[in-house]
Amino acid sequence: MLKLYNTLTRRLEPFTPLNPHKVGLYVCGPTVYDRAHLGNARPYTVFDVLVRLLRTTHEVTYVRNITDIDDKIINASLQTGESIETITRKTTVFFHEDMAALGNLPPTIEPKATGHINEMIEMIELLLQRGFAYAQDGHVLFHVPSFPNYGTLSGCKCEEIIAGARIEVAPYKKDPTDFVLWKPSTSEQPGWESPWGRGRPGWHIECSAMSFKHLGINFDIHGGGQDLIFPHHENEIAQSTAVYGIGTFARYWMHNGILLVNGEKMSKSLGNFITIQDLLSQARGEIIRFALLSTHYRQPLDWTNDTLMQAKASLNRLYTALEGFVGENLQQIDQDVLRALQDDLNTPLAIARLHELAREANKKEKGQAKEEIQARLKASAAFLGLLQCSSEAWFKSDCTQGLSSETIEELIMQRRVAREAKDFKKADQIRLNLEEKGILLLDSAEGTSWRRK
Ligand code: AMP
Ligand code: ZN
Repeated sequence: MLKLYNTLTRRLEPFTPLNPHKVGLYVCGPTVYDRAHLGNARPYTVFDVLVRLLRTTHEVTYVRNITDIDDKIINASLQTGESIETITRKTTVFFHEDMAALGNLPPTIEPKATGHINEMIEMIELLLQRGFAYAQDGHVLFHVPSFPNYGTLSGCKCEEIIAGARIEVAPYKKDPTDFVLWKPSTSEQPGWESPWGRGRPGWHIECSAMSFKHLGINFDIHGGGQDLIFPHHENEIAQSTAVYGIGTFARYWMHNGILLVNGEKMSKSLGNFITIQDLLSQARGEIIRFALLSTHYRQPLDWTNDTLMQAKASLNRLYTALEGFVGENLQQIDQDVLRALQDDLNTPLAIARLHELAREANKKEKGQAKEEIQARLKASAAFLGLLQCSSEAWFKSDCTQGLSSETIEELIMQRRVAREAKDFKKADQIRLNLEEKGILLLDSAEGTSWRRK
């Protein structure tokens, strides 16, 4: 029986989906203006494990959006001179590469905010009709005092919010807690025609509209980092339940703890971040994944110089226990590993069990009994997206994850230059070399992208 901690009820609860065979999960995706940092990797890795676990028993629709309209993107475009389209397309490709390098499976649906503007406008119109929103100076605002249930997720009282406010005070607001659903765009800014003039959506309405479109009025799980509880998720709840009724929207709310550097949140604004790409030039994706999963997802994770070294040493121990193992039968996942995960995704306990299996395997002489334990170790680790290489390849640093995104992109550029110079032999050779290392190139009209096999 799967138990999950529900932020909404502040309790560990048995998980029972609305439909006994299917689960709908929505995770707030990245805002694609710049490379993702390690803190951003945490939710996507945690929820990847959840999806893998849910898939053992249910058909899962995993929706993880792309926020491709946002003031941060507009600012990045102004600063770099690159078009918004170029920035969002490029950053989305980088994000997919980072996720693949970390062993995160793609979501079932990856909706883009800009593909759902009509749905957002429709939802805002309903909020206006029902008296939860008002239009003022080209803006549409959600009127927080009109929604008495506001604050149930975060436990925030509106007065406290205002007192601690980093909330924008603006002349068009009736109440300081009111938040933007729609705002006007100047002719240089991206915008869409709407009943309130040319403009663009606020961030919160994006997720309400996309989750409704792809998962419906009621769905099972909504996830993201703890930093999103307030105001983002609180506002999503207000918008969606104001339209569809109290008791609709997500039933279980899950939030990962914050990744810290020297006790402070890793974030772009504090400048204390390391991009996933930079980290991949120091360590294989599997090591980073292991480090992220070594701490329980609800705990803070303090990232230090030792974190990667410890993860690497642990993986070395596990890979050592797989020496000589060539078995293919990977069905048998250890029951203790599954039980640990079913207990609110206790990945550190699951990893401790992997170490136990490794110790058992090391004690055995070569033979069938040893192979059985090795098979269980490999299957259980693979379930977590770990121990993906053979022991031999790992220690020769030959795993596909070994090639950093930067190196791959460099090689793709060299191939493009070779093709432009009509040196097709060289271009083909680069493609073949990459393929041997487990990297597939995908050519299209927009250029070449890549993924790991
Ligand atoms: P953003 O692109 O800033 O909206 O963040 C994308 C995801 O990363 C959200 O689920 C955030 O909660 C999460 N996130 C951002 N920074 C951190 C951090 N330092 N630790 C853990 N999660 C984070
Ligand atoms: Zn969201």
